[in-house]
Amino acid sequence: MDKRRVTLIHTGGTLGMAPGADDSLAPGPSLNRILEQVPELEQLADLRLVVAFNKDSTTLEPENILGLARLIREQAAHSDGIVLVHGTDTMAYTASVLGFLLAGLGKPVVLTGAQRPLAYIRTDARGNLVDAVTLASRGIAEVGICFGDHWLRGVAADKTSVHRYEAFESPNLPPLAELGLHVQIHPHAGAFPRQVPAAVGLALESAIEVYTPFPGMPWRLPGDGTRGVLIQAYGAGNLPMGRPDLQALFAHCRSTALPVVLTSQCLSGGVDLDTYELGAQARELGAISGGLHTRWAALAKLALALGAGASAEDVRQAFTCSWAGEPL
Ligand code: ASP
Repeated sequence: MDKRRVTLIHTGGTLGMAPGADDSLAPGPSLNRILEQVPELEQLADLRLVVAFNKDSTTLEPENILGLARLIREQAAHSDGIVLVHGTDTMAYTASVLGFLLAGLGKPVVLTGAQRPLAYIRTDARGNLVDAVTLASRGIAEVGICFGDHWLRGVAADKTSVHRYEAFESPNLPPLAELGLHVQIHPHAGAFPRQVPAAVGLALESAIEVYTPFPGMPWRLPGDGTRGVLIQAYGAGNLPMGRPDLQALFAHCRSTALPVVLTSQCLSGGVDLDTYELGAQARELGAISGGLHTRWAALAKLALALGAGASAEDVRQAFTCSWAGEPL
């Protein structure tokens, strides 16, 4: 059988980094040599390398991520699958945005990266690249993160370790695939309804105020120009509803029609505003439950919905509907 055509798009991150004079890692000049350094990739697929940019992913801006969505669409026209090499720090946000924007692409988009640069002896980059190219050749229409031994749906994944080679998890959704002795693809891979509203994709709104409460935190009103609010609430969506400054925040958001979405500070499980009186009070004041959305999927959905001109009520609807297989 002919080899599948896979386009490897490089965007930066540790995988291609090199140590500087003080030994700290920075984007290196060697990324054009990925194919030379991991020649076995050529055995897996007919590969093309495209360098989108070479950045530490913590420096990405919305236009970089939207640009990647456009580039992947262009490249997918003459590829069977895409591998996106990306820094790990913001990979879950990019994977969430792309998961929504490319839900209808019909081809695999496999994000990967590394905890150690490709040039290092104990690198995880080599294995991750081999696994990512393998998955990109399998024809499963998913946008997912391939890292360590797993392929995870992008809209359900989060970075959970700074140092383990198994750096990502999708706590509320089983992995799409396990990459051990065998590549074991699970039946839910590629099997989800695509329900992304047609208007989504033109812009990624960043004027979102994010609150991560701790006991005693003062609740300041969102700044001028804010379009949406995301609160990383305690546990099942609890907040200190007796605090006048928090009540003032809810009143302000209601009077200015700002959507207020709640996610959980806990990784596993999610928001359920029926569980506690405090959650129910937040809902009474207008809080929208983010349910099982990861913080990144919730932010991506909010940013895309607002970018498409959604009202607070549209945002509420969006969080009751799985756009691209994200658990609710
Ligand atoms: N700071 C790096 C990045 O996100 C971390 C990594 O790639 O692992 O680009």
